[in-house]
Amino acid sequence: MLLIGAIIIFAYASKIRRSVRAKKKSCGIPKGMILYSDLNVPAAPLFSSRSRLTGKPDYIVRKDDHFLPVEVKTGGGQHPHHSQVLQLAVYCQLLEETTGAFVPEGILVYNNVPYTIPFDPKLRFELESVIKRMRSCLRSGVVQRNHQEQKRCTHCSMRQYCNDVVPDGP
Ligand code: SF4
Repeated sequence: MLLIGAIIIFAYASKIRRSVRAKKKSCGIPKGMILYSDLNVPAAPLFSSRSRLTGKPDYIVRKDDHFLPVEVKTGGGQHPHHSQVLQLAVYCQLLEETTGAFVPEGILVYNNVPYTIPFDPKLRFELESVIKRMRSCLRSGVVQRNHQEQKRCTHCSMRQYCNDVVPDGP
């Protein structure tokens, strides 16, 4: 009886493992142990008091000896948008500060295609300077729009709070 129970549990566990593997593959999620997921059940956000950042990557995977954030996106175009790369950079920084371990890269899954984004000195510097600019805008209370795209404003979740919306027009 015990043996039959063990066989059933083993078969069930194998089935789950196979289905997780298939799902990871079909979504473009890279190989590696998933340590955190925000997609099926909401996960606790990562928080850094040092850089005053918070955020939730879709996944954190362990690859070799590193923890890597994974962000899954869909959208138009052939490649990830730069704003998504910066969002991933925030997760890399948060992971580094919360785990104390070096994060060499993050993964952006864009339309089911994984892109490895190196968290290199160039991206680190850019992130730092964007954060500084945002903080200075917040302090001054003046935040200027940096685009002329009506479509972006139409679908923006901040539209109701924004006083600089690109006006509707021809
Ligand atoms: S509505 Fe405001 S915050 Fe949103 S995209 Fe337009 S300008 Fe930016």
